[in-house]
Amino acid sequence: MSSYLQQEIKFLSGVGPKRAGLLNKELEIYFFEDLLYFFPYKYIDRSKYYAIKELTPNLPNIQIKGKIVGFEIAGEGKKKRLIAYFSDGTGTIELIWFKGLAYIQKSLLLNTEYIVFGKPGHFSGKFNIIHPEVEDSLKNKNTIQASLQAHYNTTEKLKKNFLTSKTISKLINNLLLILKGKIKETLPEYLIHKYKLLSLEQALFQIHFPQSSDLLQKAIYRLKFEELFYVQLNILQKRTHRISKLKGYIFSKVGDCFNQFYENNLPFELTGAQKKVLKEIRRDIGSGKQMNRLLQGDVGSGKTLVALMSMLIALDNGFQACIMAPTEILANQHFETINEFIDGLPIEVGLLTGSTKTSARKEIHKNLLSGELQILIGTHALIEDTVQFKNLGLVVIDEQHRFGVAQRAKLWKKNQNPPHVLVMTATPIPRTLAMTIYGDLDVSVIDELPPGRKPIQTTHLYDSKRLRMFGFLKQQIEQGRQIYIVYPLIKESEKMDYKDLEDGYESIIRAFPSPKYAVSVVHGKMKSEEKDAAMNLFAKGQTHIMVATTVIEVGVNVPNASVMVIESSERFGLSQLHQLRGRVGRGADQSYCILMTSYKLSNDARKRIQIMTGTNDGFEIAEADLKLRGPGDMEGTQQSGIAFNLKIANLGKDGQLIQYVRDIAMDILEDDPELNKQENSEFVVQLKKMSNKKVDFSIVS
Ligand code: ADP
Ligand code: MG
Repeated sequence: MSSYLQQEIKFLSGVGPKRAGLLNKELEIYFFEDLLYFFPYKYIDRSKYYAIKELTPNLPNIQIKGKIVGFEIAGEGKKKRLIAYFSDGTGTIELIWFKGLAYIQKSLLLNTEYIVFGKPGHFSGKFNIIHPEVEDSLKNKNTIQASLQAHYNTTEKLKKNFLTSKTISKLINNLLLILKGKIKETLPEYLIHKYKLLSLEQALFQIHFPQSSDLLQKAIYRLKFEELFYVQLNILQKRTHRISKLKGYIFSKVGDCFNQFYENNLPFELTGAQKKVLKEIRRDIGSGKQMNRLLQGDVGSGKTLVALMSMLIALDNGFQACIMAPTEILANQHFETINEFIDGLPIEVGLLTGSTKTSARKEIHKNLLSGELQILIGTHALIEDTVQFKNLGLVVIDEQHRFGVAQRAKLWKKNQNPPHVLVMTATPIPRTLAMTIYGDLDVSVIDELPPGRKPIQTTHLYDSKRLRMFGFLKQQIEQGRQIYIVYPLIKESEKMDYKDLEDGYESIIRAFPSPKYAVSVVHGKMKSEEKDAAMNLFAKGQTHIMVATTVIEVGVNVPNASVMVIESSERFGLSQLHQLRGRVGRGADQSYCILMTSYKLSNDARKRIQIMTGTNDGFEIAEADLKLRGPGDMEGTQQSGIAFNLKIANLGKDGQLIQYVRDIAMDILEDDPELNKQENSEFVVQLKKMSNKKVDFSIVS
């Protein structure tokens, strides 16, 4: 069978080299298999026939069965047209063509039964259909019967070359006739039986030529089931391998570091969610297996503290720990926060970033090797080979999506056994997506904010209200608060963006003149020392307003800042807007987020703004984002490529099914971890096929 599926598309009857070239280019259809899995995007019910006497104005596309009883050529010039009088015994309707008159008239026979399809029009008391589809009702014996007509995506270029949805359907018809009885099943019999699935062959026939909507639903279900099942089986098998192969360091006790911190230093009660997550982490690191855990928590939910307390347990067990952050600003901030938290405790903490001086760097290297330095905080600089630990036991990675898999792997190699890994992200992603993208990670969620936080009030303002907005900012500054004003920066049009930022900055300086007001600026073109200096001025409260591009998006913590103004907010994605908003609302004061837009808003932009003004819940926003954009655009999905390779399932919409098939895959692996059983042999074949495809993928990209 596979030999059939791997045949080049040009060899299919009805294709040939020219069409093959177009199918390659426009639809990425190269082989028979690609066409077989090129699924329709919609279906039109062709089971019902209208009687002509039932017709009323304003019907959608309909179908009539009848005969042509006469032809007429009418009109002159542009209005010249062919009229075929079509009768079904209950009445007569006019079929009208303005193009190809001679050809069409020749191809249609009088008094032969046809099926006519199209949208009826109504003109001076008579019904007509302009340019209808006309089919012989005694269908060709080489046509697969269907009661729903599949429609396929095409492109302008394809249509120009007569590769319409209908042509594609004919090609698939030809293909299925060749493959009939030869499509090999890709799921084991026992699964098909147990979960009452259609066979693969049935499913493929029904998805292209559904005999009923019930069978169509079953076909879609079977194909989604299989697709998602193999994704999960693949992920879970890798995970099983990792767990069984790698030994994890056992942190068996909670000692002085943790206890002293808990009793003397912890300035507040942990939230219930923080406690729950710490329990999950403790269970992992005490288990003898390597922890590989993703900690998701909305901005401001207190992830840093969880990381710190986990590190203290590592220290209590004679291990070192490190935190890696995506930017220098963030690394500095973690360093300061953690030093403050552990004030008075005998714990050595170091900071290593790109701007650490050589002498200090040498000192750090030495103290890491001797074990004197217990916690290291830094940027990518931590990954370098020259950074060696005496006994690294726990790695914390902040803001996961900024690091690639290869970088993570480098960290794993910093001790004999890989250290435990805790990955923290403030980009909440829906559970089902996390399960798939980060399928090899266990997921913990902090779903609760520390008490006493006032929800941020979010407002949408059109640009014309800018003066009113400035007035509000002045009030806030008078009350001692600070303000962020953020401009979008999109790579393709950097020049224009900087102009926006510069113009904006000038108008802000004019509205907030010195010496009464102090304004800082941070943008990506500044050197990192300049950025840090400007950021520090703001963090210390020495400037009132921070004008910035999105460089401030990640993690920065200035609790006294209470207003976030986002300019041209229609140009930001939802998750970015939410991240930016999360920079305020970190203190006890009421905070505000103001979304500025022009009057012209696309539908999607309007929806994004509505969602932002409607909720502060990061998970709700992530769900909405997934629905608006689809998973291919979500952060993190690019790395995995999974979202792109799915042909029929949708990570955003098929959450329940993902969970369902994941449980099935888990049971199978529990029973047969190596998939050695005869009944499971098909899995091995399919997983191998998937991994082969990945190799191809990496060569291409
Ligand atoms: P994020 O999850 O965004 O990294 P942080 O760890 O920066 O959040 O925490 C945000 C703020 O909340 C910090 O100032 C931190 O000290 C504070 N915080 C953390 N946990 C609690 C708690 N349980 N109660 C009160 N405040 C807390
Ligand atoms: Mg953080």
